[in-house]
Amino acid sequence: MNQTSKQHNYEQFLMKNYQLCPIHSQRLSLLRIDNYQSGNLLKCLDCLIEKPFKCVPLIKILESDFNTILKGWPIFDDSQIYDQLKDMKQKEDFIMQDIQTVLNFYESLKKEIILLIQKEEKETIKNLQTRYENLEYPLDLYNKISQKEKLKDIIFNSYQNQDKQNYEFQKIVKENLQNQENYKGQIFYSFNNLNRSTFTYEELFSVKDKIIQLMDSISIAQSQIKIDSLQKLNQIYGQTIIDIGLQSKNIQNDGLQQIAQTLEKHSRITNLTLNLRENDIQVQGAKLIASALHKLSNITSMTLDFTENNIQTEGAKEIALSLQKLQKITNLNLNLCGNDIQDEGAKYISLALQKCHKISNLALWLE
Ligand SMILES: [Zn+2]
Repeated sequence: MNQTSKQHNYEQFLMKNYQLCPIHSQRLSLLRIDNYQSGNLLKCLDCLIEKPFKCVPLIKILESDFNTILKGWPIFDDSQIYDQLKDMKQKEDFIMQDIQTVLNFYESLKKEIILLIQKEEKETIKNLQTRYENLEYPLDLYNKISQKEKLKDIIFNSYQNQDKQNYEFQKIVKENLQNQENYKGQIFYSFNNLNRSTFTYEELFSVKDKIIQLMDSISIAQSQIKIDSLQKLNQIYGQTIIDIGLQSKNIQNDGLQQIAQTLEKHSRITNLTLNLRENDIQVQGAKLIASALHKLSNITSMTLDFTENNIQTEGAKEIALSLQKLQKITNLNLNLCGNDIQDEGAKYISLALQKCHKISNLALWLE
């Protein structure tokens, strides 16, 4: 159906099914939108002329589609909004535009990185060659001291004069006899040098490791995931910056187990906020959480807020044991107030933290 015939159909539909205005005997074709208490909201054109009101023509509503902006509906008189809405690109275009920006960015980044890698590759090869040039290769050395070419020359050219030939041989044999120890030393020195200078793959892999570490530490694509209910825990999948906020949700052992099981599967997490204030964490629950934390060996920054639970000394001990496994941690914010952990529990925590050598930012609330 084309546009005109559609329009025609809508008109026909309205003509056929909509009554005439009881006052003006004109077709009711307008929806009054500024006063819902004025009796019938369907009005005719003459109603409008008689006493102006804000309205939307029914035909305009029927004709409308996703891209139609009905001026004046649902907000009266805001040309700024309507003009902007009218000029608005489709959402898909917006997304495409952003995707294109990202694609272009990475395309040029890839080119730059490849150029840098190629430069590095060239320099490595150059270094390698220099390294070999600067050392006497054992076979080269052997060929130099063995004087095979000189012996050949004597064999080819001096056989007609035996005395002369013998004299020449004597000279070389004598030289060789005198230099036995010296030659031996030179050859061994050359072997050793070669072994020491031989290029190792470790050097290359250390370059690779550095680059991969650097890439890992850049997390442009990683946004922070906020979890505010147990049902949303599965959203953590693949993310490394996690904010779990489940304060005052009456969370008990089964909830804690769910949290623990989810965290355990995500050892790549680097930033974790776990807010479980005012729940029902007992010793057992603290053990569940602690055993999960234990496995998050990539954590660099963590906030644990267990204020107002019932973790007790034993729970604090479990948490302390897992904290000391987090050797990459630099920022820690730990709140165990209102958990009856006693001096002993606080001691476990502080002893554990002494083993986290990278911590530079620490906030502790233990009482
Ligand atoms: Zn009327």
